[in-house]
Amino acid sequence: MEQMVEMMQNRDPEQYEFHQAVKEVVESVKPVLDRNPEYRQQAVLERITEPERVVMFRVPWMADSGQVQVNRGFRVEMNSAIGPYKGGLRFHPSVNLGIMKFLAFEQVFKNSLTTLAMGGGKGGSDFDPKGKSDNEVMRFCQSFMAELYRHIGANTDVPAGDIGVGAREIGYLFGMYKKLSNEFTGVLTGKSLNWGGSLIRPEATGYGVVYFAAEMLATRGETFADKICLVSGSGNVAQFTTQKIIELGGKVVTLSDSTGYIYDEQGIDADKLRYVMTLKNIRRGRIAEYADTYAGAHYIPVDPNLGYNPLWDHPADCAMPCATQNEVNGKDGTHLLKNGVYLISEGANMPCTPEAIDQFIDRRILYAPGKAANAGGVAVSGLEMAQNSMRLSWPREEVDGRLKQIMKSIHHTCSHAAESYGVPGNYMAGANIAGFVKVVNAMLDQGLV
Ligand code: NDP
Repeated sequence: MEQMVEMMQNRDPEQYEFHQAVKEVVESVKPVLDRNPEYRQQAVLERITEPERVVMFRVPWMADSGQVQVNRGFRVEMNSAIGPYKGGLRFHPSVNLGIMKFLAFEQVFKNSLTTLAMGGGKGGSDFDPKGKSDNEVMRFCQSFMAELYRHIGANTDVPAGDIGVGAREIGYLFGMYKKLSNEFTGVLTGKSLNWGGSLIRPEATGYGVVYFAAEMLATRGETFADKICLVSGSGNVAQFTTQKIIELGGKVVTLSDSTGYIYDEQGIDADKLRYVMTLKNIRRGRIAEYADTYAGAHYIPVDPNLGYNPLWDHPADCAMPCATQNEVNGKDGTHLLKNGVYLISEGANMPCTPEAIDQFIDRRILYAPGKAANAGGVAVSGLEMAQNSMRLSWPREEVDGRLKQIMKSIHHTCSHAAESYGVPGNYMAGANIAGFVKVVNAMLDQGLV
């Protein structure tokens, strides 16, 4: 196994995030390979870490000024053993092939845990929608889809949103797909309600993060009532994580964006959250404005030279990192534990570094990895696909009920897998093992393809 990891690193030395994601899974599934020698003979690790297909393409578009711009587009189709490729599109300047591969790899395991028939994929571009006009975003999305449409389809590969890709971008992407393919089909999820979207899809990832956390608390006979929570990010996942925590009686005291964070000791209530949603989703402003609006709230700008994020250094019970990968490092992990945090439910993908995770596992706190805790988003995307196929729209209560049930089932699957491999309470190992076994068995059933 060490040899396989070394080969992967030598082959693509710059793909750090992908190496990090693979190493975590490889360490967790070692006992599975020991129990099933045929997995080694069938080279399942080598196969599951190699994408089935990668598409990279040029995305030329014109700025309002008339200046032509060129970005790079990606779609990593990682694994289709249990269903069509499924996973979001990310538009952010940091996007590169290593980040796309790490996200697609995580998605394979996450989708496997949802109980729905979805393979794993991910895509996006190094395009930055921040500061662009609506027309620029539309022209970019149309150019991006002018290539991507050849590779996707309702039964082949179904993209969705992620960082920088929300309802507006999904609309422009869908419009172009429909024009090019001359077909109105469920090729994207996260669509608006009046043209094929599902109720609860915008809320699903954040709600799921909290439903999973509530399941973990229940194992200790606790609920969210009066729990103080640190949340990072202020986008889709952070907003609905906050909304559900408030609904369940908890108190959220932080939110952030890439320029800094706010600390509101009195708690972000439903009115203040509505303000954040308008600020971020409509005015597209910065989180700093929150502190100008609400007396008693403080804004702390990001200091990249600090070596840690002070957001994670406040007294609290729970932490939900909902911004981006590796936002909680070893020092942040130490601060969280020192401040009394004993539950971490990851809204973002891979937000905690291995140095932070090791401390959480050593201290046996309730730690849920993103591939389990944030699977609610893709689960409801799966429900959106099902509704599209039947040309039906389920009511809000039905979708929310199914989401809750799926999160409960993921919690059970992870706990059960962790117990049966001798690491009870280790949700990370449980998620990796359960996701892995299901996909690998499907791959073996289908022969060497
Ligand atoms: P959004 O674009 O809606 O929000 C992202 C938030 O994170 C913003 O507040 C953004 O701040 C902040 N952020 C992004 N990049 C960085 C960075 N490099 N440093 C600091 N802050 C950053 O995205 P989502 O809420 O959809 O996604 C957040 C996370 O959740 C991602 O890891 C994503 O992969 C994951 N996820 C999302 C799902 C979904 O359904 N949307 C499903 C499962 C996981 P700013 O505006 O300043 O950039």
